[in-house]
Amino acid sequence: MDNPTPRPIVERMAHDADILIVGGGLNGPCLALACAQAGLSSIVIDALAQDTRMGGQFDGRSYALALASVRMLDALGLWDGLSDHAQPILQIKASDGRAGEGAAPFFLHFDSAELEEGPMGHMLEDRHLRRTLLAAMDDHPRITHRPGMSVVAQATDGAARVTLADGSDLTGRILVGADGRRSGTAARAGIKRTGWNYGQTALVAAIAHDRPHHGIAHQFFMPPGPLAILPLTGNRSSIVWSERHDDAKRLMAADDAAFLDHLRPRFGDFLGDITLAGQRHSYPLGLSVANAFVATRLALVGDAAHGVHPIAGQGLNLGLRDVAALAEVLADATRRGEDIAASDVLARYQSWRRFDTAALALATDGVNRLFSNDNPGLRAIRDIGMGVVSAIPALRRGFMRHAAGLTGDLPRLLQGRAL
Ligand SMILES: Cc1cc2nc3c(=O)[nH]c(=O)nc-3n(C[C@H](O)[C@H](O)[C@H](O)COP(=O)(O)OP(=O)(O)OC[C@H]3O[C@@H](n4cnc5c(N)ncnc54)[C@H](O)[C@@H]3O)c2cc1C
Repeated sequence: MDNPTPRPIVERMAHDADILIVGGGLNGPCLALACAQAGLSSIVIDALAQDTRMGGQFDGRSYALALASVRMLDALGLWDGLSDHAQPILQIKASDGRAGEGAAPFFLHFDSAELEEGPMGHMLEDRHLRRTLLAAMDDHPRITHRPGMSVVAQATDGAARVTLADGSDLTGRILVGADGRRSGTAARAGIKRTGWNYGQTALVAAIAHDRPHHGIAHQFFMPPGPLAILPLTGNRSSIVWSERHDDAKRLMAADDAAFLDHLRPRFGDFLGDITLAGQRHSYPLGLSVANAFVATRLALVGDAAHGVHPIAGQGLNLGLRDVAALAEVLADATRRGEDIAASDVLARYQSWRRFDTAALALATDGVNRLFSNDNPGLRAIRDIGMGVVSAIPALRRGFMRHAAGLTGDLPRLLQGRAL
């Protein structure tokens, strides 16, 4: 009779949890919830207090969630509690614009009616998503949440170990960095980053308007950067307005009335009169991609692995792809009796995610460079390119399927299936 395969030593050691997740923003909690489906326990540590993250004005962002991301939230049992707050994106219209001139005629128009799967995605405000994730973590017996606590040191030899700011230690089988684009987890592991600053800051706010938006998302390409007007529930839209750093600083310092006076000529009057429906927030924009997504007993997900330009509204969608892929790799390894932190297991995750990430980082970078300027030659090239995409239905549908996250080698959760 064959001897049973001995379980790796680290699996036999007692740990505080299977997975230590640094960062309880959006991707960290999603990973903990996904891995819990596979029977894996997690501790999620976040530097910010729970009350701060639960606050209604905490972040101000709203996310264009691709259809595949919505399917994943559904597979995690979260979508029923979120769907009332979500606005389907029925159409996307893009046009060239200059401040004061209003938008030029649309040169790109995507209509979900052409897609058999339905809306390409949904707009969801950060406050709803974040509260739902925090509540779901608190309710789950396999997840321990440690809010208001920073990780200050780590080690991954033999087991994963983090030291918290209060001097206490936690151990796990694997350490995951979900700690954002300035990931300390990556830095402490010696993982370098590639990236640059775009010289742009995104101004973000919810806007109330007189007329209905009919579920249409608009993108106006202005020389300093794009202005996206994205439909929220009711007669409200979220703006992501990119300006040069100095101009953005002045706009943030201005009072609400002056801010709106600058916004109106760019926004146009197609939605009637506009007012602010929440606080203004600003985000400096840059590209920051980790040179490796894995190291010994360690993996990176979300912005810790890749922070991209929000021009295509894909950053969180990309992070959820990491989460779905890593959770599936770890679940399958568990079923096969492998050490979830073995280097070949982590290599599977990295090879699944690297190409997709590099492609999207380059695409968003290229689109931002092509559109955020007033060069007549580049304007002509982009107008021709967009005209070609608009004129060819198969190409148009291809773009929509891509934006909906339906292309590529999709992990089970992104197909709406359980792990
Ligand atoms: C203006 C703008 C608009 C966007 N719009 C979209 C969109 O429409 N669609 C889309 O898909 N994406 C969008 N994105 C991208 C999206 O916001 C990010 O990809 C996403 O928020 C990243 O989440 P995360 O959980 O990976 O990281 P984060 O949200 O950055 O969370 C990291 C967490 O780690 C914690 N942390 C850091 N260090 C430590 C430590 N040492 N110890 C403990 N905790 C720590 C932090 O407190 C934080 O809570 C947009 C981004 C911007 C800037």
